[in-house]
Amino acid sequence: MSDKKEKTFKFLIVGGGIAGVTCVEQLSSQIQSADVALITAGPHIKAVTNYKQVSKTLEEFDVEEQPSSVLEEKFPNLTVIHSAVKALHTQSHSVETADGRVFGYEKLCICSGGRPKLLTQDNPYVLGIRDTDSAQEFQKRLSSAKRIVVVGNGGIALELVYEVEGCEVIWAVKDKAIGNTFFDAGAAQFLVPLLDAVKPERAVPCKRTRYTTEETAVGSSHTFTADRNLRGCGSGPTESGSALGPDWHEGIVLQGAEQVSRRVSVEYQCEVEKIFTSEELLSSPRQTLRTDTVGTWPVYIQLTNGKTFGCDFIVSATGVVPNTEPFLHGNNFALADDGGLQVDDHMMTSEPDVYAAGDVCTACWEHSPMWQQMRLWTQARQMGWYAGRCMAAHVLSELIELDFCFELFSHITKFFNYKVVLLGKFNGQGLGPDQELLVRCTKGVEYVKVVLSGGRMVGAVLIGDTDLEETFENLILNQMDLTPYRDELLNPNIDIEDYFD
Ligand code: FAD
Repeated sequence: MSDKKEKTFKFLIVGGGIAGVTCVEQLSSQIQSADVALITAGPHIKAVTNYKQVSKTLEEFDVEEQPSSVLEEKFPNLTVIHSAVKALHTQSHSVETADGRVFGYEKLCICSGGRPKLLTQDNPYVLGIRDTDSAQEFQKRLSSAKRIVVVGNGGIALELVYEVEGCEVIWAVKDKAIGNTFFDAGAAQFLVPLLDAVKPERAVPCKRTRYTTEETAVGSSHTFTADRNLRGCGSGPTESGSALGPDWHEGIVLQGAEQVSRRVSVEYQCEVEKIFTSEELLSSPRQTLRTDTVGTWPVYIQLTNGKTFGCDFIVSATGVVPNTEPFLHGNNFALADDGGLQVDDHMMTSEPDVYAAGDVCTACWEHSPMWQQMRLWTQARQMGWYAGRCMAAHVLSELIELDFCFELFSHITKFFNYKVVLLGKFNGQGLGPDQELLVRCTKGVEYVKVVLSGGRMVGAVLIGDTDLEETFENLILNQMDLTPYRDELLNPNIDIEDYFD
């Protein structure tokens, strides 16, 4: 293979999403003379703009989908190759692309992201949402839809059911409460009434990253806004563009065929038993559908709670699978249980000179007690940045320690138009019975939950404009014994910031 190499780069990065682009930027600015290449399957790259460090670990930024020429103009030593990697040969340190070229590398970073776990492959009535194309396909299908079924309980499903109007939404969640990935039942209870309420006009400026779509001379370029990103992908190809970001739906009208506002009903604690066409349904002896709707929908979904619903289409929002396939054959990567490439505390995989960052990897170092991996925009940026630093440090024979951003899990986002801040073990992840919850809730205004373990704060959920994030972040980081202040901690009449000053 080595004799066929078109060129060998010092650093080769695969994937033009946030992780790959941040890694490229980091490497290109740290070692300006190095030959860096970015190979990406999609036509655009994603760039972080308006980056703002909100507190020690909380960050906000916009994400712009740009033509890759922007990156090449900024970094003269960068080459962007638009093709998909179809094979990796770690022995000969080379990759093969779909258009038949072979490139060598000294150090490689795989940032190929993830793709939606679809309930079923190749069913035209089952959609995922990952990138601009799939979001537009969703919008198109929705415009003539009267009822859709959304399956899944993560961020994408949450956002979707809240945003869709003019179409009945049946929302099937496997948990006892909505939004289980991010919230407990209490927070879900705070949000559930909003599904029945009329959606307010967007008066509050959105602090998340935003996507707009504009035509440029070079071709179309999309600017998305994101601090939560919606991933999705149609039932089509898997080597599509990067995952969407938060506010993926802004600028896209999510309006169904009917003149109703929002109409959502939640089916709790159920999964999908079967998906069938109307013909298959009619020949099925055990269907429990209302007879007036039999045969009138293009697709039917049977849930494990015994109910069957007809609908125009089904949205599969049940998580992502790391995009590892092209890299595995013939190599010896250690994979994590979730299918991600295992990486150590220097973002290195089990193959020599191969790093990975973002959704494709699974952080397998010993985590700080307050941090967990979640496949989110912010972590893709942090991992890409840190992977770039590690690659440069290794080439320069410098020592490097795990970055501070991996000390504390922190995430700012918006759900149902409320600001949401998640800190540390916000859902008591892994704490077992050794936890105490303090909750303050004002209906329609705010929901504050603190997780204590051994009298110390280990996590928090803040919904609404609570202004508590910085103080709570400090309390989690400094692990102060809060036993004496337990009763005052969430007292709304006490200025907690002053209190701990
Ligand atoms: P991606 O952004 O997926 O980029 C992967 C890149 O690799 C793409 O450019 C792709 O073209 C390229 N690629 C893939 N395979 C190959 C190959 N074989 N060869 C060459 N190139 C390849 N996170 C949040 O924080 N907040 C949210 O609100 C939020 N909402 C989301 C909503 C949706 C619908 C989705 C899908 C995701 C959402 N996420 C959200 C998660 C977030 O988008 C991802 O965590 C983040 O984008 C991952 O970045 P990445 O760079 O690892 O991967």
